[in-house]
Amino acid sequence: MKTKVICPGSFDPVTIGHIDIISRASGMFDHVIVAVLNNLVKNPSFTTDERIALLKQATKEFDNVEIVGFDGLLADYAKKRGVNVIVKGLRAVSDFEYEFQQALTNKKLNPELETVFLTSNAEYMYLSSSMVKQVASLGGDISSFVPQCVHDIIIERLK
Ligand code: ADP
Repeated sequence: MKTKVICPGSFDPVTIGHIDIISRASGMFDHVIVAVLNNLVKNPSFTTDERIALLKQATKEFDNVEIVGFDGLLADYAKKRGVNVIVKGLRAVSDFEYEFQQALTNKKLNPELETVFLTSNAEYMYLSSSMVKQVASLGGDISSFVPQCVHDIIIERLK
């Protein structure tokens, strides 16, 4: 059976840390669905359509990666798509408690759903979308934080 997985997140905007996880998942599984959260609690800086467009551009070399937006519960979306595995990146101890809580909640809501964690690449441990936004808004150089092909679009939007 082919293994389909979901990589969920807000991707507001995509960073090279996200691409590292997506590319590793793409090499490990048959099909990777990158699911962009639409119902964010926090105010996104980029619309869902913009976040999807940036991800599509940054992942076009991977032919088993699909980018979609989704609303509602991840556990329900996974069931709807026939997916039993969620893949998440784990940066530091700071991610652990939240991710553990999410994984257990998702399993409670959909007992067939497993969460697999990939350890962050040591080079990207510190990297987050909010850090990218903060640096860009203060006029800093984000060229080593975001995929090169979407750098200019991100800078233009965050100006
Ligand atoms: P953030 O806004 O914190 O950058 P997202 O909610 O968009 O993150 O994250 C989506 C997924 O990507 C999560 O599993 C998150 O742990 C992972 N991720 C984000 N940044 C990195 C990174 N630098 N290294 C590894 N995984 C990461």
